[in-house]
Amino acid sequence: MADQVLVTLDGAVHDADVPFLHADDLAAVRGDGVFETLLVRDGAARTVELHLARLTTSAAALDLPRPDLDAWRSAIAVAVGEWDSGREGVLRLVLSRGREGAGEPTAYLTVGPVASRVASARRDGISVCTLERGFSVDVTETAPWLLHGAKTLSYAMNMAALRHAHGLGVDDVIFTSSEGLVLEGPRSTVLISRGRTLVTPPVEHGILPGTTQQALYEVAGAHRFRCETAPLRPADLIAADGIWLLSSVTLAARVHTLDGLALPVPEIAAELSGLVDLAVDTVGVEEDAA
Ligand code: PLP
Repeated sequence: MADQVLVTLDGAVHDADVPFLHADDLAAVRGDGVFETLLVRDGAARTVELHLARLTTSAAALDLPRPDLDAWRSAIAVAVGEWDSGREGVLRLVLSRGREGAGEPTAYLTVGPVASRVASARRDGISVCTLERGFSVDVTETAPWLLHGAKTLSYAMNMAALRHAHGLGVDDVIFTSSEGLVLEGPRSTVLISRGRTLVTPPVEHGILPGTTQQALYEVAGAHRFRCETAPLRPADLIAADGIWLLSSVTLAARVHTLDGLALPVPEIAAELSGLVDLAVDTVGVEEDAA
């Protein structure tokens, strides 16, 4: 039996063992759609409003109909209610262009178990290699059709980069631009620390705005951190006190080895992961929504 919950946007709960998607859905044949991945913890989906805001901007980038956010909120509540509240889960929101020629989007949610790599990434950190993504940082302006900055279903390149890293015996990747600037991970935002200053690369460089980084920056100021956005080069990573890959499910994965170089544990390591926990527990719950 599937260890999975499947709910459609109308709130109907489906048997996750029964085939669901039509063979000609443009999600399957073109990767033509958008998605979000959220952490479910203590019976609640985390940073929901930040994810719904990004779902809306991703859908707009693909000329998909504007998501009905109240319908998504209700369906999220149904899906999370179907999941064992004592267990962490991964909630996916999927919005595709629908069946070929039908003109009607397909919208559904799943909840499933957290991958086993997540616990060790949180606890022990990760090794990372830098890989060139092959685009300039001005790609969003010069080639908006590449949809950088939207969370589309076309993740084959990201997964290929991760397989390449695994082939090298490395856990994860930090992409760099053609001019050698730090971008993001295939499924994460890059964050460095210099003392109590946190720095992340600008989203204008064609990277996805990370909800975990946004939530962290909302709370970090009150905990005596300075939060900055600035271009970074690989040399800045090596010179930093700490490097993390931030993402909704893994949360804060400290980079312990970069391109084969072992990095010392920064003084703020435990404090930072506590702050990310606090951020995802408190930011982007519905009452916050403007
Ligand atoms: N960048 C990319 C390319 C991603 O795929 C993700 C998450 O999947 C992130 C950044 C981090 O975003 P979030 O913190 O919202 O999970």
